[in-house]
Amino acid sequence: MIKYKLICKKCNHTFDSWFASSKEYEKLKKRSFLNCINCDSKKVEKTLMAPKLINKFKKQTDEHNLSKLKKIDKKIKEYQKFIKENFKYVGKNFAYEARSIHYNNEKNKNSKGIYGTATKLDLKELNDEGIKTEMIPWLEDKNN
Ligand SMILES: [Zn+2]
Repeated sequence: MIKYKLICKKCNHTFDSWFASSKEYEKLKKRSFLNCINCDSKKVEKTLMAPKLINKFKKQTDEHNLSKLKKIDKKIKEYQKFIKENFKYVGKNFAYEARSIHYNNEKNKNSKGIYGTATKLDLKELNDEGIKTEMIPWLEDKNN
């Protein structure tokens, strides 16, 4: 059973009515079996469920998320700055460079860490070879 709040378009009277299902409501409406209990008009419609409440809640959530995102954004930029100053950028050669550091450990003791891009497959293979990588969120530089 489902309860709908119905409104009469003619006299604006609202009243609750029970239906077996939403389908039954549609069926009765189509066949004009729904009457206003006040004026007997057939212009009866279902009223909408409190959409205001939902909208308000959603808006607050968006604003909350937005301020959270801005904070994260700032953190990422600080992190990026640190990485750029302390790591060597190798671009798409990341997997190759990571291996060369890993397998030539002695020679590269004083070399900088690296950062760049790699495919998921590259990362999986590196991981299988025992080469530790870390994924970090990255924002594209608009100044470049
Ligand atoms: Zn009515």
